Amino acid sequence: MTYAGVLARYRAWMDIPAHTADITLLEGNTPLIPVPRLAEEMGGGFELYIKFEGLNPTGSFKDRGMTVAISEAAGRGARAVICASTGNTAASAAAYASRAGMRAIVIIPEGKVAAGKLAGATAYGAEVIQISGSFDDALSLVVEISRRHPVALVNSLNPYRLEGQKTAAFEIIETLGAAPDWLCLPVGNAGNISAYWMGFTQHHAAQQSGLPHILGVQAAGSAPLVLGHPVDHPETIATAIRIGRPARGEQALQAAEESQGRILAVSDDEILFAQRRLAASGVWVEPASAAGIAGMFAEIRAGRMQPKGQRIVAVCTGHGMKDPDIIARQMPAPRLLPVELRALEDAVLEEK
Ligand SMILES: *Cc1c(COP(=O)(O)O)cnc(C)c1O
Repeated sequence: MTYAGVLARYRAWMDIPAHTADITLLEGNTPLIPVPRLAEEMGGGFELYIKFEGLNPTGSFKDRGMTVAISEAAGRGARAVICASTGNTAASAAAYASRAGMRAIVIIPEGKVAAGKLAGATAYGAEVIQISGSFDDALSLVVEISRRHPVALVNSLNPYRLEGQKTAAFEIIETLGAAPDWLCLPVGNAGNISAYWMGFTQHHAAQQSGLPHILGVQAAGSAPLVLGHPVDHPETIATAIRIGRPARGEQALQAAEESQGRILAVSDDEILFAQRRLAASGVWVEPASAAGIAGMFAEIRAGRMQPKGQRIVAVCTGHGMKDPDIIARQMPAPRLLPVELRALEDAVLEEK
């Protein structure tokens, strides 16, 4: 198991072409962290775990899918990849493309990409292009370009992305010994929720590991799957799920329905509250990643989810360091004291 990424570990479970290479950064194998104090805050009596996908090599779950998409493209001799991105796909595509010696061209919506993501994409050597439009506009453009030119599309419309992302479901089953009762996760372009459902159903068909109910969570200002229609100008501080026309929306609705779960929306305030509560248990995630927990909070508080005796897994999709500005905006800057013992003593002894 050492030195193995998701392809080395799960290739036999993936529906991928034989030419698929193994371009890996040893992604996956992320921890499933118990957060008992957070469960207590919601009344207790149940097991709550965080699947911390922010610990992947580029800081988000996108790496699980990207290793497979890039490995497939590299295996058939592709020289360049392209994607639209709210940021994390860009950083991930850039890292894996560099590793494969390929060009990465990433298209991002103007001014709405978190600092850590843009820095990542640039550091890994991507050609980053902003458009004066939304993620959805960027996605339609790259789909068209990849049809006309020999550049591989690595958005989650690419089926190999999902083949890689579904491996997170396998890891959860392996750690818990069975599927959890509920899986809560954010929903943006809806690739990840679709991939998890693929993974759980595939594993259950092979080994009767059980199936979770899926709780997909959108941000209220960009909740096309809750509203039942596209959102032209999606808004939310959770930029990773600021998407008005989810490419895999139908599949996401199907996953929610088949699993006897649901898709709901939470406000930005609920997302930021959940982000702070997670951090209070030592898990710092970017805002979008806190949406799953925010949705779970909302459901429990409204009495629509009875957690007693259940096992609940919340997927935290990206690391908090991806979006440092959101913290800086909410919190006061550290205070500055003179170099004096008395002043420091006063500050330390002050009740908070
Ligand atoms: C991409 C992303 C999402 C949304 O995943 P989809 O597959 O687009 O639904 C959520 N959180 C983070 C941190 C992401 O990078």
